Amino acid sequence: MAERLVILGAGESGVGAAILGKKEGFDVLVSDAGKINEKYRNVLLNYEISFEEGTHSVEKVLEADLLVKSPGIPDHIQLIKDLKGKGIPVISEIEFGGRYTNAKTICITGSNGKTTTTMLTYHLLKKAGLNVGLAGNVGNSFAWQVAEKDFDYYVIELSSFQLDGMYHFKADVAVLLNITPDHLDRYDNDFQKYVDSKFRILQNQTQNDFFIYWDGDPVIKKEIEKRNINAVCMPFSMSEPKANGAGIKDKQLIINREKNSFNMSIFDIALQGQHNTYNSMAAGLAGMVLNIRNEKIRESLSGFKGVEHRLEHFLKVHGIAFVNDSKATNVNSTWYALESLNKPIVWIAGGVDKGNDYEALKPLVKEKVKAIICLGVDNKKIIKAFSDIVPDIVETQDMKDAVRSAYYLAKDGETVVLSPACASFDLFENYEDRGRQFKMAVREL
Ligand code: ADP
Repeated sequence: MAERLVILGAGESGVGAAILGKKEGFDVLVSDAGKINEKYRNVLLNYEISFEEGTHSVEKVLEADLLVKSPGIPDHIQLIKDLKGKGIPVISEIEFGGRYTNAKTICITGSNGKTTTTMLTYHLLKKAGLNVGLAGNVGNSFAWQVAEKDFDYYVIELSSFQLDGMYHFKADVAVLLNITPDHLDRYDNDFQKYVDSKFRILQNQTQNDFFIYWDGDPVIKKEIEKRNINAVCMPFSMSEPKANGAGIKDKQLIINREKNSFNMSIFDIALQGQHNTYNSMAAGLAGMVLNIRNEKIRESLSGFKGVEHRLEHFLKVHGIAFVNDSKATNVNSTWYALESLNKPIVWIAGGVDKGNDYEALKPLVKEKVKAIICLGVDNKKIIKAFSDIVPDIVETQDMKDAVRSAYYLAKDGETVVLSPACASFDLFENYEDRGRQFKMAVREL
């Protein structure tokens, strides 16, 4: 009899896993406690895959031989505990997909910069002519592509939640950008558990594999000292690089891999800002270990157009530059945004505060920000944090008002940036909606 595969969550990853499961001969059931999006319901119907929505029928789920869980479902709910109690393996879609492909995988994780680095690395591999797919948190489901495409390489963005459901999967090239506290509610408020989760990106690697990481991150450095790492280590930092690794010397970005050396002026890198220099180094290192020619790496790092909503310089109006950084939903990413922009800045900030501590932003705000436009239902915390150091603070609760106020306060040669440091759910559907509304309001000026 066919093995029973149950999939919890009928989003992109769950539906992809179902398609692959069916192709591999499993008896598949997809179960979603909420309502299934119409697009995915139609896919399930077309592929004749059984599904249920609005509830998980516990007996059926517990009959599974193998369970694939959407990364959005936390481990501590009773159903997952019951599954594990019965010894039913609970894995992620990436783990499942990995069982059915021999393609080389370049896997990217970190607290910030995952999507940017994943897109840049994908761009680099594609430009170099490799047959490459884009998967994980961005792009289409990995398992779905494994079922229906024939890629030789995959660039995969991995969150800690996906890594938690991975056991036998191996990244041929693992990239760890940085680790700062995030999602601690899912890790019993234990930072070490979150760190351990990120380090799962290294599991099963051998000396034929590669580990690319930020050498300047104190958390990563400390963790590396504790562990035995099998892969070839390729660190990156702002100092001069060693034989294997990337760094900066005399305003040149340098990447070394044994006898090969790559260099380009930091002013030619398309993605500006310190954080993006790190992201570019990580992508460039991935290119080097895959033996992509220097010229191709240079071309890609200088020609990349960037990713929407991440420090996106999209328009100038009467000499005022408008920058959409709507994806900056925490203080750390806003710090990098302000750091990378020229002053004076009119800063649009606010939204749903996730327990922000604005202390770290104060020196930069003092130096560069001439006015703050608050855009949130509750702006008290921002006003309290910055009223002593920024002369103009305006409160708004509507994107059009925020953009008009910013336009009124900014002058020729100055910058207006939307980098909220907060989540968007008070006034917008999500950060994409917030970014799009921002761009629309600017275009209407
Ligand atoms: P993620 O996918 O990890 O959320 P993104 O690439 O979408 O990361 O970038 C989110 C925000 O984080 C961006 O708006 C940017 O300001 C900031 N950011 C990007 N790369 C880095 C980095 N290497 N370190 C710190 N912050 C970063």
